[in-house]
Amino acid sequence: MDATFLQAADQGTPGNVADAPYYLPTGDEVEVFEQCHAQGLAVMLKGPTGCGKTRFVEYMAWRLKRPLITISCHDDLSASDLIGRFLIKNDGTEWHDGPLTRAVREGALCYLDEVVEARQDTVVVLHPLTDHRRELPIDKTGELVRAAPGFGLVVSYNPGYQRMLKDLKPSTRQRFVALDFGFPAPDVEARIVARESGIGEPDARALVQLAGRLRALHDRGLAEVPSTRLLVAAAQLAVRGVPLPRACMHAIVAPLSDEASLVAAMRDLVDATFV
Ligand code: ADP
Repeated sequence: MDATFLQAADQGTPGNVADAPYYLPTGDEVEVFEQCHAQGLAVMLKGPTGCGKTRFVEYMAWRLKRPLITISCHDDLSASDLIGRFLIKNDGTEWHDGPLTRAVREGALCYLDEVVEARQDTVVVLHPLTDHRRELPIDKTGELVRAAPGFGLVVSYNPGYQRMLKDLKPSTRQRFVALDFGFPAPDVEARIVARESGIGEPDARALVQLAGRLRALHDRGLAEVPSTRLLVAAAQLAVRGVPLPRACMHAIVAPLSDEASLVAAMRDLVDATFV
């Protein structure tokens, strides 16, 4: 047997190891997700943007050997965009499955990113897939699609973001097992930054230290704090030769705020970190 293949039965791990998305667990999320999948429970990943939710789903799809279908939610997303629609053909109309229907038929993992962005009348089409029925009624064709084995529903949700404007209904929330994603512990985050960018460990640790200081500015009005994604971006610039403090200004400070006083406070923290 090819040495790069792990035996699924023995190790609970599938697929070609070389293809595995890099994901460093930060708690028991891998085990809990596997149990949810085995039991057919829908999963909600809660946490700020850029903290590893999408990477986690990619990793779990690889680990569980399921295709992954990702849908980015927005407020124009309609039930038809998820389920499908009749399209005009030369001599009539033809039904086309939407991405949710395809996932249900294929037994894929279906990941709805930022589900809170979708309207309530769109989100309710998920409900029959999240309980014992595990089926998707297609009103326009009269078909009732039962979820193929392996189908899993995953949504992500950023609790801080636009909380005042939008939130999920309790009747929707209670259909999911929730996994909390915060920023990783500093040593874990430094390993991620180093691995994702190729930057040395000392610089990765300094970036994480800076992130800790910047995240504390949340209390002083910084609405969005720097995510692991921004640290990786700064490190990638630095690896390409941009001096680290400049890389931090471009990849971390500027994207986070336009407000002069906050930018100045962040610049001071950058300077203090890389003296
Ligand atoms: P989210 O979906 O939460 O917005 P992503 O999954 O896109 O965030 O994560 C952003 C980036 O941060 C990833 O591309 C990856 O480089 C890095 N990352 C964050 N957490 C992890 C982790 N636990 N393991 C590996 N990479 C991570």
